[in-house]
Amino acid sequence: MGRSSKDKRDIYYRLAKEEGWRARSAFKLLQLDHEFNLFSGVHRAVDLCAAPGSWSQVLSRKLRGQEEKAGGGEEVKIVAVDLQAMAPLPGVTQIQGDITKVSTAQEIIRHFEGQPADLVVCDGAPDVTGLHDVDEYIQAQLLLAALNITTHVLKPGGTFVAKIFRGKDVTLLYSQLKIFFSGVTCAKPRSSRNSSIEAFVVCQHYCPPDGYVPNMSNPLLDHSYDVDFNQLEGPNRVIVPFLACGDLSAFDSDRTYPLQLDAGKQYQYTPPTQPPIRPPYQQACHLRKNNLLSREDGAGPSLSCENLVSLK
Ligand code: SAM
Repeated sequence: MGRSSKDKRDIYYRLAKEEGWRARSAFKLLQLDHEFNLFSGVHRAVDLCAAPGSWSQVLSRKLRGQEEKAGGGEEVKIVAVDLQAMAPLPGVTQIQGDITKVSTAQEIIRHFEGQPADLVVCDGAPDVTGLHDVDEYIQAQLLLAALNITTHVLKPGGTFVAKIFRGKDVTLLYSQLKIFFSGVTCAKPRSSRNSSIEAFVVCQHYCPPDGYVPNMSNPLLDHSYDVDFNQLEGPNRVIVPFLACGDLSAFDSDRTYPLQLDAGKQYQYTPPTQPPIRPPYQQACHLRKNNLLSREDGAGPSLSCENLVSLK
């Protein structure tokens, strides 16, 4: 793909660069906020699975902006967590770690001891394998890990927003969420492609059951539930409202829009706001550039253990 072909194909990708967001996902959070007024009264927030950081950018700009308008009072605290390293952002504390690990959860909890968070967001997604069952399963694990962390740090009445894949086990996830939140809505922002099963659960009014002790156990890892239990039926089947949101008369993320140029003006390419700092594909690029990948015809050098070790 050429430097500008993605600009031409995906309007939110292009707009993100023009407006200085690190990723097009920023529009998803902005559009969810537009519908649910997520940031009102929020001073402390957690951004789970945050890299490259466009949701943290939105949180930082919105929460700090609100605080400035109010003349400064309560300190804004934003904690961002990801497996990947992330370039720094003003007012955002970063933790590099796996949200399914208790050690990462403990590190996040430490930041909020004494002063719980008002909002937890999670845009976590696995590296998609293309095997839908596997992808949905891993996505569900991320959501439940995020929910567990949320139960440790969120204040009563607080809000949790998370990416969800609307796969076959989705009602089981809704049921889990309804245990902790009185309002659960499945929302699809305009900038999330219709062709994707991605949506976002907006869980409002955190109210854990009486006597609930936060822990890091995960019901989807408990394989004692069987197919019948999984297909929740009758009163066990929770249906949550589904809402399309964002300005619905605005851009459609599945369409291609022509570049709107003033007469006689040349198209100007905008580079990404923040290129990845240590992307997982870096090693593959290095190997290809240096002709270190093995070739089936045996014409090129093969990738030896020494080559791999020397890269680490
Ligand atoms: N919201 C981000 C933004 O706006 O820039 C984009 C998030 S991206 C779609 C999904 C992120 O989930 C990736 O950066 C990935 O590293 C992270 N992730 C996946 N599994 C994770 C895990 N177990 N723990 C922490 N982060 C994880």
